[in-house]
Amino acid sequence: MKINTAIVVGAGPVGLTAAFLLTEAGIDTTVLEAEPSLPRDLRASTWHPPTLDKLGPSGITDALLARGRITPTWQIRIHETGEKAEFDLSVLKDDTDHPYRLQCEQSAYCEIMAARLDGQATLRFGAQVVEAGQDGTAARVTLAGGERLSADLVVGCDGSRSVVREAIGAAFEGDAYPEITILTTTPFAFEQVLEGLSGVNYIWKAGGTFSLLHLPDVWRCSFYPDDTKNPEAALEPAAIQRHLDEISPDIGEIEILEKRAYRVHRRIADSYRAGRLVIAGDAAHLNSPKGGMGMNGGIHDAFALVRRIVRMNDGEARAIDGYEAERRPVARDDILAQADDNRARMHDTAEDARTDALRRLQAIAGDPARAHAFLLKSSMIEGLRKAEQVA
Ligand SMILES: Cc1cc2nc3c(=O)[nH]c(=O)nc-3n(C[C@H](O)[C@H](O)[C@H](O)COP(=O)(O)OP(=O)(O)OC[C@H]3O[C@@H](n4cnc5c(N)ncnc54)[C@H](O)[C@@H]3O)c2cc1C
Repeated sequence: MKINTAIVVGAGPVGLTAAFLLTEAGIDTTVLEAEPSLPRDLRASTWHPPTLDKLGPSGITDALLARGRITPTWQIRIHETGEKAEFDLSVLKDDTDHPYRLQCEQSAYCEIMAARLDGQATLRFGAQVVEAGQDGTAARVTLAGGERLSADLVVGCDGSRSVVREAIGAAFEGDAYPEITILTTTPFAFEQVLEGLSGVNYIWKAGGTFSLLHLPDVWRCSFYPDDTKNPEAALEPAAIQRHLDEISPDIGEIEILEKRAYRVHRRIADSYRAGRLVIAGDAAHLNSPKGGMGMNGGIHDAFALVRRIVRMNDGEARAIDGYEAERRPVARDDILAQADDNRARMHDTAEDARTDALRRLQAIAGDPARAHAFLLKSSMIEGLRKAEQVA
């Protein structure tokens, strides 16, 4: 199979990355996005070292750095005492060109990528794919309204409700976590009320948990209302204020710029490809955002897939066959599993378990060799290395 033309369904971070790499490889690419413009909802903000390494040569990492905030350390802490385990990513300096996390909005990345695609690929908004299929010679999609398009390959980067995944006939195995998360952004300087914060903070408080992530101009504050059935009530200003008061009575009434409620799923497709239809990103796997890995993993999918397409076009006829074997185990065993562990650790409210976990984490953080091994994994370097060995 030779790929001269491709349709990418979805202009999220994974679709735009795939489209960018496909056009770099000289493949005539069309991106179809259902929304009328680039989605701007609050989603990913954490960028891990290997993603920044991969995007470095094309100058995209520099563009992200210009719009983000470097986070050299991250921490887990107990709110009441301020006791913490803090991880310093500089121990990864020999493993990556970017030994830190970057906090930068996913929407900023999509803007950067859409600008890079301008004139290189066809980017169509308001183009909702309602059906995908294939025959022996081409893949095709049908848009709402009936228009049909075909190409040598359709790459489904169409998120959790993927139409392309459905066309592949893949089951999306897994379940939803019970909690809802409330995510807010505010210009309030949390470092004024909580001493010794890192740029990324996962915090245990009595009976619950919250997190604070520092972006260039705002903090993101996430918390978990007890009533999991009523997101609207949890988004009311008074309900948000109650959570902020619990963090510190010194916060007072502050400006909330954005807010959203979401529920998280843990799912993985049982198949990533059928013939000329292939999926990547959230279309293929969903995980808890704890640890910030879903989008990063999806972007790694896009790199792996396009590298295999290039090899196939160079004559290695079956290169694309290994895509699922390269990317599905890392999604299941590293991304979903680690995100699940991270979530479980933060949602455990038993004081003894928390104290034990904190002591373990402090011992790891305080031992350079153990910290190195721990951060290789949590920074997605180890999983990616394993996956690339399959390549
Ligand atoms: C609050 C939150 C915080 C997160 N934080 C992080 C983080 O810090 N780091 C991290 O790595 N991940 C994080 N994630 C996960 C990350 O946001 C997702 O993994 C990422 O958005 C997946 O990108 P994608 O391009 O695969 O899918 P999406 O971003 O869902 O994009 C899919 C696109 O396809 C379009 N589409 C869907 N169906 C169709 C159709 N039929 N036809 C045409 N277009 C269609 C959609 O409109 C959308 O634009 C977070 C998620 C949430 C909710």
